Amino acid sequence: MIYLVEHFYSIQGEGKYVGTPSLFFRFGGCNMRCEGFSCKEKAEDGVEVLGCDTVYAVNKEHFSHSWIVIKRVEDLLAVLELYELPKAVDIVLTGGEPLIYASDSIFIEFLETLVARGHQITFETNGSLNIDFEKHGVYKECYFALSVKLSNSGEPFSKRVQGIAIYNIATNAKDAFFKFSIDVASITLGLEEELNEILLYAPKTKVYCMPVGGTREEVEKNSKPLIEFCKAKGYNFSDRLHIRIWDANKGV
Ligand code: SF4
Repeated sequence: MIYLVEHFYSIQGEGKYVGTPSLFFRFGGCNMRCEGFSCKEKAEDGVEVLGCDTVYAVNKEHFSHSWIVIKRVEDLLAVLELYELPKAVDIVLTGGEPLIYASDSIFIEFLETLVARGHQITFETNGSLNIDFEKHGVYKECYFALSVKLSNSGEPFSKRVQGIAIYNIATNAKDAFFKFSIDVASITLGLEEELNEILLYAPKTKVYCMPVGGTREEVEKNSKPLIEFCKAKGYNFSDRLHIRIWDANKGV
């Protein structure tokens, strides 16, 4: 069963393709919880749920009642008809973790249809799930933003860093780049060593570092120290344009 949380047409706010007009599909569910990010969101049942800044797309128990159940590929393709889109607009698949559906037949058909229509598909993934690129060749046509989680996520290393999955994506995808969320505290707490433990699985893959924050104020607080870190290490700084412009990260 595929769950779709929301869809919206905006510009890509982060990473290598920042500024690109893109139609976003946010899928529900994730193989992690990332409670270390300490974001809280109140569910309709009154419970305050702890997790990441998209906890409403992660926590099935408290939020899935508002998710859309996808039963046919037409349910996903119909979303494209709801907007006035330029021809072959970029499509971003995010979550939660969209690759929990990587082997689902409806999901594969959706990807194949989009590629056949000329869309560029970018996955925003935590990079911990292995994809069968030989069985599902459509993934070789896709782009991947690898947001491998750091220790600040609160997830154990053995769960968040899956070397084979990272290597396979970096080697087989049309394009892949790393995109890390970094706060000021982690810069002084062994960040470089942490990144090196991940980058060794795809040493030629470009790195984008973006400031942690679900609000404009948090993003701005973390930006300057992060820019200095990027300058020193030769990594790319990525803004979080949607948060800076709209001061929100839901539906923009
Ligand atoms: S992997 Fe990403 S979507 Fe899943 S819980 Fe962690 S931050 Fe949230």
